[in-house]
Amino acid sequence: MITGMIENNLINCYDGNFRAEDLRKWSTKGLIKCPACNKVI
Ligand SMILES: [Zn+2]
Repeated sequence: MITGMIENNLINCYDGNFRAEDLRKWSTKGLIKCPACNKVI
């Protein structure tokens, strides 16, 4: 995953604003969605 959406906020895994630990946690909870098709990543 390169980019995703959390509650309508666009996130980028590589911009350093989000810790990998948090991204993984959100992902396992099904909170991260694809910005293009809105499916859970
Ligand atoms: Zn998609």
